[in-house]
Amino acid sequence: MNTMKQTAHRGIRRLLHLVLPPACAGCQAPLAPGPHRICPRCRTLLKPPPHPRCLRCHAPRGTGLPASRPCPECSDWPAELTRARTAVLMAPPADTLVHALKYGGWPELATFMAGRMTGALAPAELSAGSLVVPVPTTPSRERERGYNQAARLARVVAHALDRPLVEALTRVDGGGTQVALHRHQRRANVEGAFRPVEDLSGRIRSRPVLLVDDVLTTGATAGAAARALAAMGAEEVTLLTFARALPGDA
Ligand SMILES: [Zn+2]
Ligand SMILES: [Zn+2]
Repeated sequence: MNTMKQTAHRGIRRLLHLVLPPACAGCQAPLAPGPHRICPRCRTLLKPPPHPRCLRCHAPRGTGLPASRPCPECSDWPAELTRARTAVLMAPPADTLVHALKYGGWPELATFMAGRMTGALAPAELSAGSLVVPVPTTPSRERERGYNQAARLARVVAHALDRPLVEALTRVDGGGTQVALHRHQRRANVEGAFRPVEDLSGRIRSRPVLLVDDVLTTGATAGAAARALAAMGAEEVTLLTFARALPGDA
């Protein structure tokens, strides 16, 4: 779809949003008037990853497993990706919310999702001097949608945590979408896709980074972004996402 059509569609959606009674972004049920975009039922359906979890990536470990057993989710992540935290598991209505943020662009939705994300971060996990960096999308995808959903979440997260937002990375076109690729293909597809914004290297050097994205799947994208940040001198990289897909979800 061309950019003009996209813009027109967004405009129409915004108009409908003004004239129709508000509906829940998760299930379309009518909402009581007020600032909320998610109904109480959908809010209770959003679940964080259950305990026990991997200490590094917070993937559910299952009970009764020896602590020495390597985590199947993060054992192939590059060391530059220090840890990952996520607000909710990718299950209904989280998938609908992620889709709505990507294509619907409601600012209220970003506020709700970012609120859940900052709640997933223990105070001790927010290292002193952290900067918030969004995972960038490619220029062509950003032109199509009009914005990058990760940047939208990162802006609200940075504001809520009172940390500077630094859009330190760009993503080159090519490679295509990660959807429908296997784990090792995803890694090869995204390796080298991120480039530093040159004059921002000085701001990243020796700083801990909170890397923000909407969804964590295999960690291939975040791993490549973390390596690019480490090459700029980042001290450590904590990935913070709204949702996490686990094997079997795809
Ligand atoms: Zn709902
Ligand atoms: Zn793990």
